[in-house]
Amino acid sequence: MTAKPPARPRRAPSDAASRAPVKKAPPAKKAPPAKQPRAAKKGTATARTARASEVHARLSVTLESPPCELDFTSPWQLLVATILSAQSTDKMINKVTPGLFARWPSPVALAIASQEEVEVVVKPTGFFRNKAKAIRGAAALIVEQFGGEVPRTVEELTSLPGVARKTANVVLGTAYRIPSGITVDTHAGRVARRLELTEHDDPEKVEADLTALFPRDAWIDTGHRLVLHGRYVCLARKPRCGECPLAELCPSREGEAPALSWTERATRERVKVLARGAVADAP
Ligand code: SF4
Repeated sequence: MTAKPPARPRRAPSDAASRAPVKKAPPAKKAPPAKQPRAAKKGTATARTARASEVHARLSVTLESPPCELDFTSPWQLLVATILSAQSTDKMINKVTPGLFARWPSPVALAIASQEEVEVVVKPTGFFRNKAKAIRGAAALIVEQFGGEVPRTVEELTSLPGVARKTANVVLGTAYRIPSGITVDTHAGRVARRLELTEHDDPEKVEADLTALFPRDAWIDTGHRLVLHGRYVCLARKPRCGECPLAELCPSREGEAPALSWTERATRERVKVLARGAVADAP
């Protein structure tokens, strides 16, 4: 009988485990960064509100009583001038309206004027056929439905031909001092976007953003201030950032920080606006 070979020593379980592929431990998770106090970043609602408040403060000093650059002596005249001002300049409208109002001084007179004769007078303002039709139509409705008086609500005003929300705001705010909204024309819209008070191009959406940012009792003057600032300083092609009293607040500022203080720049802008631009530009 042959002897049994000695039994193989059994591997201890611990040994077997040591030969198994070693699983890597998952990397330790990074601890989340400690929470920082929230700063008002550029573009946040908080920053926008704060900027609007500063813009309001500076523009109120710059143009305490901002003028309307359309010449008028009554709500009716302002309504007609504003309808005519679409796609034209206030300067041009101010040349045309004295002759228009001398010839047809009231809504009744204009309502019965001939289309052809009115067209000849308003021709220099552009789009003269539509404009002549609009002001004659507005005159007729004012006589028939509003007793010869320019109405005092946005709804009634926008029921007149040629009158959209912007024109209604101009007439209510400037002629009646009723704060129905903020007038947003091409200048005001551009300034509001450069100051990042809005991201919109659509004037009604810009107006909604601005009315949420500015106090209601400042709506009328804010509209005029933004229009005038855009017309004389924040020009479309080449904004005059070095002369701008809002330069430190503006995310779109071009060039170096201005040398003059903001109040000195505000004074210069006021002089320029009151002279309707007829002053020499700063060197
Ligand atoms: S700093 Fe320049 S871009 Fe900004 S509001 Fe003034 S003129 Fe316009």
